[in-house]
Amino acid sequence: MTQWHPSQDQLIEFASGSISSAMSIAVATHLHYCKACQAQVKTAEAAASALFETQAPEQAVGLDFDSLMAKIDNSEPPQIVKPAKVKARRFPAVVEKLIDGEVNALNWSSPMKNLHTTSLMKDENGLIVGLHHMQAGGRVPAHTHRGNEISVVIEGGFSDELGTYDAGDFIHLDGKHNHSPLAHADGDCWLLTIVEAPVKLTGPFGWIINPFLKP
Ligand SMILES: [Zn+2]
Repeated sequence: MTQWHPSQDQLIEFASGSISSAMSIAVATHLHYCKACQAQVKTAEAAASALFETQAPEQAVGLDFDSLMAKIDNSEPPQIVKPAKVKARRFPAVVEKLIDGEVNALNWSSPMKNLHTTSLMKDENGLIVGLHHMQAGGRVPAHTHRGNEISVVIEGGFSDELGTYDAGDFIHLDGKHNHSPLAHADGDCWLLTIVEAPVKLTGPFGWIINPFLKP
C-alpha cells in the first residue's frame, strides 16, 4: 500500500493531458501501484469528458478539483478501474519502455557514495527522467536538492528524516529538504526520478553576463 501520492492537481493535469511528458511518466508509474489514485484519475477523466461535451475545452483549464466535481453532479458514475495485468516485467511498463533493454547496460555514474544514477530522456520542458539506484543497506550522504525533484520508488525502498518509502511511493523533494537516505537492508532500491535540467553558465549568454568568461 503506497503512502505517498501525487497531488490532486497533478492527478487532474494527468487526466486532462495538460501535464508535461516527464511528470506524466512519474504519475503513470505511481498509478501502476496505487488503486486509490487510479480511481481519482478515472473520476477526473469522466469529469473532463463531461465538461468537454458542454463547454469549450479552454474553460475547463484552471478549475480545481471541487469545482470540477460540482459540474458533473448529474453525470454518470466513474468507470470501474480495470484490474492490473499480471506482472511479467520487473518494472512498470512505462519505465521498461524507457529503459529499452537491460538496466545494467545503461550508462551509470556515481555522484555520491552508495548512489548510482542514469538519465533516460529529457522532455519538452527540460525535465530529465532518470533512474537512481541505492545498494541494499547503503546510506547516501546528506544533501539538498536543486529545484524540484520527484522520485517514485519502483523496487525496494528507503527511509530518510521525513519518512519511509516503498514501491509506488511518489516523493516530492525540493531545495528545503536536507536528507540522508538509507536503503532498506533487504534489497537494492530503485527509483524513477524527475529533475530539472542543470542551469548552464557557459554558452552564448555566459560571456555577455560576465565578459571575463569570454574565451
Ligand atoms: Zn496514489
